[in-house]
Amino acid sequence: MSLRRQTVSEFTATRLSIYLRALASLETEGIRHVSSEAFGRRFDLSPAQIRKDLATFGEFGVRGVGYEVSVLKKHLISILGLGHTRRLVIVGAGRLGQALADSPGFTSAGFAVAALFDNDPKKIGTETRAGIPVHDVEKLSEIVKLGSIAIAVLTVPASAAREVAGRCVEARVKGILNFAPVRLTAPPGVKLKNVDLKIPLETLSFYIQKP
Ligand code: NAD
Repeated sequence: MSLRRQTVSEFTATRLSIYLRALASLETEGIRHVSSEAFGRRFDLSPAQIRKDLATFGEFGVRGVGYEVSVLKKHLISILGLGHTRRLVIVGAGRLGQALADSPGFTSAGFAVAALFDNDPKKIGTETRAGIPVHDVEKLSEIVKLGSIAIAVLTVPASAAREVAGRCVEARVKGILNFAPVRLTAPPGVKLKNVDLKIPLETLSFYIQKP
């Protein structure tokens, strides 16, 4: 099925990741087939939403049988572009950048940190604990182009984020994951996502208040 990815909403794309995790969990338990109803019940998802989301990408279910777990998982891996390891760079080799770079939880399942970049002479030329090199941010464009790297993660202070995002665009990355607390925009052809961990914390705070 030919599909313009830009027309797929971020909510749908996010749910695909959730379905993928749920399918991996079913597979680990040895469950081979699942109906959209059972899938929904089990993971607190809407069966109608699951059917609608998956129908955007093709015909994956069999009437009366449901979805074959391993087959649907493979399709989702392919739809999400996770069939091969994607190398990414992190700009800002401070506390967050180094922690992300060395965390297997961040880079397992299809992602690998190729390098970090910083503008602090004391950090340039060093390595993270896991041995990932920290380069001069001036070399960003050269290294990104040479390594065909498509994703940049920004862990610089807010004051530097716009300038660093500009460098990433110039280096022709296709996706930017921004942790800095500033709303950035990207030109057409570059997908930008902002991450703010305070949002789930505030949500938690809302729910745990006394009635
Ligand atoms: P940090 O000060 O430890 O690290 C920032 C690094 O960026 C430093 O190594 C610094 O030298 C480097 N830097 C500064 N200007 C640069 C430039 N122009 N080019 C390249 N490198 C540059 O800060 P941190 O605690 O690691 O936090 C990093 C960012 O992440 C901050 O903006 C912080 O607010 C944000 N943050 C976001 C979340 C979230 O939930 N989104 C959580 C924690 C931190």
